[in-house]
Amino acid sequence: AKAKGRDEFALFDEAIDRAARKRRQIETELRQAIEGDQLRLYYQPIMDLDSSAISAFEVLVRWNHPRRGLLTPDEFLPIAEDSGLILPLGYWVIRNSLNELREWDGDFRIAINLSVTQMRDAQLVPTIRELLVTTGIAPERVEFEITESVLIRDGDAGLGTMRRLRDLGASMALDDFGTGYSSLSYLRSYPFDRIKIDRNFVVDITASEEARAIVGTIAQLADALGMYTIAEGVENAEQLALLRKLGCDEAQGFFIQKPMAGAEIDQHMFEATDA
Ligand code: C2E
Ligand code: CA
Ligand code: CA
Ligand code: CA
Repeated sequence: AKAKGRDEFALFDEAIDRAARKRRQIETELRQAIEGDQLRLYYQPIMDLDSSAISAFEVLVRWNHPRRGLLTPDEFLPIAEDSGLILPLGYWVIRNSLNELREWDGDFRIAINLSVTQMRDAQLVPTIRELLVTTGIAPERVEFEITESVLIRDGDAGLGTMRRLRDLGASMALDDFGTGYSSLSYLRSYPFDRIKIDRNFVVDITASEEARAIVGTIAQLADALGMYTIAEGVENAEQLALLRKLGCDEAQGFFIQKPMAGAEIDQHMFEATDA
């Protein structure tokens, strides 16, 4: 039994070793991807529920891996975050999305996700300020999305960065609202302009009275606090109709449009639709 135990440990060590090697390999490849030309930006429209016009696009990064094809963020962002590569990756995303935005006419925002590590980086605000100047993009058109994990891990530093981004003229959205723990206190203590209601609530609103009550209450609370709401993950017409009725301001999801490459974005999208 003792020998067997040792073998199991040896196997276990090997497995850990293999996982660590795999991680290092992905890290090396990701570094090359950022420097090379393998990252891609996808954009998902956000619809204004009063006018049915597209009011914003959320920027979502992809990795066009030479062998594995187009990878979604869940396949590489955790490694980017742990290794610190999220910083060069994040700056690549900000720089390229602002540059691409210059090409499109229309009165819409662009929403960029920022992680804990990015919000902590002393270069973040000066770099964004500089990019806004060089691209000539009006800061009012730029929104940054953070989850409450930024505030849990880094309350005061997070608040400082938020304030400085808002001082530049950009707006802030609280992402994935309702998935964490003490969300309500964040609404009072941090200067958010928008709340993004997590997909988990939206999925349930057609079947569950409770989910409808929660979404309706979040919309009213946001109103009372002078904030706007965006419902995430809208997948059918019924959900969209309910979200309108419940007083949400904007909606995003596959029913409205899937994330798409910049080249697929047409000028006609900025006109109102009948959705
Ligand atoms: P997120 O910020 O919550 O982004 C929305 C995610 O929901 C996207 O996944 C989008 O494709 C997906 N989605 C949109 N509509 C629907 C729908 O109707 N149904 C369903 N089932 N899903 C929908 P994606 O692109 O895989 O991104 C995953 C996460 O990766 C994002 O979640 C965001 O937290 C992070 N992320 C993406 N791009 C960046 C980036 O450039 N920087 C940072 N720091 N994080 C990023
Ligand atoms: Ca987001
Ligand atoms: Ca989200
Ligand atoms: Ca409202």
